[in-house]
Amino acid sequence: MKTLKLAKSYRIDDGKHFRIKDFDPAETGHWHSVEHAQEYLQKYVARMADLQAKLYAQDCWSVLLIFQAMDAAGKDGTIKHVMSGVNPEGCQVISFKVPSDTELEHDFLWRTTRHLPERGQIGIFNRSYYEEVLVVRVHPEALKGEKLPPSLVTKNIWEERFEDIRSFERHMARNGTVIRKFFLHLSKKEQKRRFLARLDEPEKNWKFSEADIHERDYWDDYQKAYEDMIRHTASKHAPWYVVPADNKWFTHLVVSAAIVETLEELNLTYPKVDAAKLKEIAAARRILLKK
Ligand code: ATP
Ligand code: MG
Repeated sequence: MKTLKLAKSYRIDDGKHFRIKDFDPAETGHWHSVEHAQEYLQKYVARMADLQAKLYAQDCWSVLLIFQAMDAAGKDGTIKHVMSGVNPEGCQVISFKVPSDTELEHDFLWRTTRHLPERGQIGIFNRSYYEEVLVVRVHPEALKGEKLPPSLVTKNIWEERFEDIRSFERHMARNGTVIRKFFLHLSKKEQKRRFLARLDEPEKNWKFSEADIHERDYWDDYQKAYEDMIRHTASKHAPWYVVPADNKWFTHLVVSAAIVETLEELNLTYPKVDAAKLKEIAAARRILLKK
């Protein structure tokens, strides 16, 4: 399939010069409406299903998709849209919330490592170990709860975490896990609009959380933490996509394009059957026809 290389302009392979303010959350590229983008939204989902079937059959590569964002940026809806066409057998979504007591007994990569996708599978992390340089950085009291030996908690801790994450992702990539990371970039104004909708529309009331409103007070700290995170952890083998998130349909378009483009690059094919197997197939056909 000819892709539009649409996701390319949002992809960060090298974060050295990344500045969050260079990216507009309200951007919609060449598209002006969901209707205008419909054809591609559908095409990408269909293409993803086809590529995933091959990924699964080949049982060689694994794909890890990481989603990080401010509240109400649309992580859940994006994951739902993107995966709407794929076979659930080859795909797993895991959401990471506040760590449990057991999880806090371990290093910060432990709980996510246990859920990494097997070969042939797509694993989706709804939040991830990146929370360890986001929420934990914005609220350093969370770090106190992590039971680290005090002598190891220095002012270098974030730099050290970036380094560990980079090494971990390089290790995964070298072992056949293709990592793509999505930061759904929402504006503060649009977040307010979505929170208000949660208050005003009865069917959205269940999504309302007082804590989310409180967390808005730390908006600038979060933006700084996201910027620093992308600067330090974007790489060729595990790039970040800074996806405009003020228009949900455009978020879905960019994320599905990025996944299709990633899978296309793997040149996936169904496993080839050797001569002996072909003989076996021919023999089975003869036997079956006689029955
Ligand atoms: P929704 O978008 O539907 O509200 P959610 O992912 O925000 O879903 P919540 O249960 O509302 O889920 O929130 C999960 C919370 O857990 C977030 O505030 C997140 O920052 C926090 N969290 C995740 N990982 C960590 C971590 N390692 N340390 C501390 N807090 C974490
Ligand atoms: Mg939440």
